[in-house]
Amino acid sequence: MSEVPPSHPRYASLRTREKVVEGVERGITGLNGLIAQGRGEALDYLIGERTTAAAEEAERAAAAILLLAERPVLSVNGNAAALVPEEMVNLANKINAPLEVNIFYRTEERVKKIADLLRGLGAERVYGEEPDSLIPGLDHARAKAARGGIFDADVVFVPLEDGDRCEALVRMGKRVITVDLNPLSRTARTSTVTIADNVVRALPNLISLVDEMAGLEEAELRSIIEGYENRAVLRRSVEEMISHLADQFSALDE
Ligand code: ATP
Repeated sequence: MSEVPPSHPRYASLRTREKVVEGVERGITGLNGLIAQGRGEALDYLIGERTTAAAEEAERAAAAILLLAERPVLSVNGNAAALVPEEMVNLANKINAPLEVNIFYRTEERVKKIADLLRGLGAERVYGEEPDSLIPGLDHARAKAARGGIFDADVVFVPLEDGDRCEALVRMGKRVITVDLNPLSRTARTSTVTIADNVVRALPNLISLVDEMAGLEEAELRSIIEGYENRAVLRRSVEEMISHLADQFSALDE
């Protein structure tokens, strides 16, 4: 594995890429995870590799929903396991939620490796190795879910979910919070709250917000949720992308 010097101007982005490559080498991330990461990098470049104001608003709404949830579950796929495993466990423990391994190209070996990784980092409850129910409307391999986990959850936090599964969870009546750098993807448009931010920034932000907002009254949390409109926030995410591009475009003349 090559060592990127911290002085490199794109250190953070290159380290993130290396973590996904390491995930593949350790057998926790599928090969298609590399392609997903590449798409994410391109979109992150377009927003200037920073958390936009729109993403911050989505993160606040997500923190409020997680704090008020009765049965929240955090879903972990191969890319999240490579990029933010400690943060996923930390968030789960803070809101007393189980984690569920939920991967697109399921192999039992990979599910076990991710579950072991999460347990090794201090996760108390990890579902996914023995799914005992099916999410309606998906083909068998993708439909697998666990009772006590995603199947029974009222709120699912699922960074980097695929559009079909996201739709199926919403159809089951769940509130779905996703992290997806593409504000125009099906996942982004279907979710209750879409955080159009890099998962490596979104998770630390969410953890700080959960800490900060844990002391708020229930009514205040409810009003944050009621005032949140995902489509409007997605439109603003696209506008922020356009405006960043316009700035870069103008800078070509300097
Ligand atoms: P959909 O089914 O929702 O339309 P898709 O098929 O376009 O999604 P996938 O290939 O399933 O997309 O998943 C990749 C998605 O994850 C892309 O939209 C990409 O922007 C996003 N993504 C990849 N890496 C990251 C990351 N580190 N942080 C946030 N989002 C990411």
